Amino acid sequence: MKQLLILSGKGGTGKTTIAAAFIKLAAAKAYADCDVDAPNLHIVAGRTDKEMIKDYYGLPKAIINQELCIKCGICKAYCRFDAIEFKDNYNVDIFACEGCGVCAHFCPNKAISMQEAVAGELMLFKDNGVFSTAKLKMGSGTSGKLVSEVKKQLINNSIGTDFAIIDGSPGIGCPVIASLSGANTVLIVTEPSVSGNSDMERIISTARGFGAKIAVCVNKYDTNAANTEKIIEYCRKNCLPYVGSVPYDTEAVNAINKGVSVVEIDCPSGKAVRAIYKSTMKILKESI
Ligand code: SF4
Ligand code: SF4
Repeated sequence: MKQLLILSGKGGTGKTTIAAAFIKLAAAKAYADCDVDAPNLHIVAGRTDKEMIKDYYGLPKAIINQELCIKCGICKAYCRFDAIEFKDNYNVDIFACEGCGVCAHFCPNKAISMQEAVAGELMLFKDNGVFSTAKLKMGSGTSGKLVSEVKKQLINNSIGTDFAIIDGSPGIGCPVIASLSGANTVLIVTEPSVSGNSDMERIISTARGFGAKIAVCVNKYDTNAANTEKIIEYCRKNCLPYVGSVPYDTEAVNAINKGVSVVEIDCPSGKAVRAIYKSTMKILKESI
């Protein structure tokens, strides 16, 4: 199964809007939302069918049994994440604990145990095309691993499907790296701001390391035509296919508020996204 991954160097560029439009145009049988910190593709893609929910266990957390603790302070001294604090008793800050187990290993009175902790939820919708997604609990900090689980769940449930569309996480951190693994084509959605240019360059250099084909499009291109030209020129110089520009469009906002994608109404942004879809799918077909 080929994977088309849609990324942006930061949030708020319209990445999910474009992903939802592509899913509609392709009548996609397999797709995923890898933005596990703030998933919203299920809303934009209008998934109301029943999902299967599984708890996701991230890193184990250290728990101190106060009855066994002799207050020696060894655990605090050994914790290099500063996750153990002392106020009358020694306690673990579960948001800071990285689950390394060093404190439990060195505790002289076996007062520390490592316990599995629910770090989020994995969700799978199957009634109307396979849709894999997840939500990480705030402060759980294992988003890259959860993204890998989202992708594994998608692949395992889409055997025999030609391609999948994956809405990636914004930024360039661990979840993006995890979503890039196995992607054949990456569509980068950027905006023509000064920060948009540098975010795009960073995400391109990250994506290049994975050997995927990279295409670029600009959303709200007419809000800064000069910067859009710079992005097009950058793509030309770096031999990256520039697949289109989406205009700023208030009708797009209305469409999203009504729960439909921009390609389901007659609007300028919808037309532009259709053209971007055609070019991107051609690149995906040719990718290996
Ligand atoms: S190492 Fe064990 S006994 Fe010592 S303070 Fe920590 S939990 Fe208590
Ligand atoms: S498990 Fe590791 S990170 Fe967590 S409290 Fe113990 S030493 Fe610190």
